[in-house]
Amino acid sequence: MRSRSANRSGIVIRRRVTPAGDIIVTLLTPQGKLKAIARGGVRGPLSSRLNLFHHVGVQIYQTPGNDLATVQQAVLEGALPSLAQPGRYAFAHLMAEFADALFQEGEFSEQAFELFAGALRGVAHQPDPEWVALVMSYKLLALAGFVPQTARCARCGAPAPAHPDPLGGQLLCARCAALPAYPAEALDFLQGVVRRTVRESMAHPLSAEQRPALWRALERFVTAQVGSVQSWRQLVPTALSA
Ligand SMILES: [Zn+2]
Repeated sequence: MRSRSANRSGIVIRRRVTPAGDIIVTLLTPQGKLKAIARGGVRGPLSSRLNLFHHVGVQIYQTPGNDLATVQQAVLEGALPSLAQPGRYAFAHLMAEFADALFQEGEFSEQAFELFAGALRGVAHQPDPEWVALVMSYKLLALAGFVPQTARCARCGAPAPAHPDPLGGQLLCARCAALPAYPAEALDFLQGVVRRTVRESMAHPLSAEQRPALWRALERFVTAQVGSVQSWRQLVPTALSA
């Protein structure tokens, strides 16, 4: 019988402790998303290692007939302690929930892992974690195949729309819109963030007053396009007030 043990390395994006004291973690790894259980983990050394946002190497065992793999060992490969800061934690949590919603188990994506790991590092170290989270959210969305339509009105297809689309988070033309047009910088961000490099977007942050409208557009777009993002949605207002 072939061995069902495997070693994987990834970042903890979700962590839940069951009443029985088991820890159920979801890791984002270069080989895709992985969900596993550390039985009785809350009472052992695995507890502190399997923390949210930790980069861990795990040895897992797949029991026949059981869909959750068991974590046998875990070693800490990297941590970003500054993510515990209140101004950063909410954005890191938001990025983790987002990655969990966007990427499916077993979907091989080294690029998704690299982008997400970069987003967490940015949220941990950049002076403006909110801007990192906004830029990286759009990049992660695009990688998962969700690209907002910006060349044409989302309702009638007219070219060069510039107004918010309160239902779909895309853009509307002046005739279809009820809200005033986006300021030029916000419009430029929405039109360009997917194709620009992260570095370019990071170099041109928008002012704090313009960001709530961008979060709103992101939230509407994600709600309309991506399923099962309930917990992510609840985090968006948290991010807004942070
Ligand atoms: Zn229109």
